[in-house]
Amino acid sequence: MPHSTFDSVGATVYCEDINILRSTGRLSSVRWCPSPNYGPRPEGTAISLLVVHNISLPPGQFGGGYIEDFFTNRLESADHPYFLTIADLHVSAHALIERDGTVVQFVSLLERAWHAGRSCFQGVEECNDFSVGIELEGADDVPYTPQQYRALADLALVISSAWPAITSDRITGHCDIAPGRKTDPGPAFDWPGFRALFQKRQSVVLRDKQTQKGAL
Ligand SMILES: [Zn+2]
Repeated sequence: MPHSTFDSVGATVYCEDINILRSTGRLSSVRWCPSPNYGPRPEGTAISLLVVHNISLPPGQFGGGYIEDFFTNRLESADHPYFLTIADLHVSAHALIERDGTVVQFVSLLERAWHAGRSCFQGVEECNDFSVGIELEGADDVPYTPQQYRALADLALVISSAWPAITSDRITGHCDIAPGRKTDPGPAFDWPGFRALFQKRQSVVLRDKQTQKGAL
């Protein structure tokens, strides 16, 4: 009997080498689309928070590749009236999860991506300094896809393995660190469902590790 639908989640990033990820900040099994929009994290800053966002370009429309263009400063303002209002912004996220669960990485996790803006988590400001930002292609009131939840749980698992300070309660939404200014990932994001998926996934990995130990 299959354990659950997410036992097959490994498709995207489950095969990451945690030591390589920790030293390079690069997810080896996802597409790399480098953004120039990043800087160094302040010296001595521990990576200890994961921030979930959403984005769609134009707003409410999916596909088209405009998010990649936006994060790499190649958005053509002539392509859509909305793009005129954002084409000069220089922003990024560490990774994007598209509607079909495909993951694209833009910034090394060791670097400071420009995703959170003015923000505060548990009294500590400037969340970009110490967080990883992951964008879901989506909108606040449109259900996210099962593939996106699985990819996010998978990513969170790999990232929290490399940086264990990112515990389940240190995975948060942009709306929670910039209240009144940001609303993403919005009411459509199923936090209890995601946390259950993440924690169940953690227990599966733990069980696998214990089985491997038993086999040695
Ligand atoms: Zn956001």
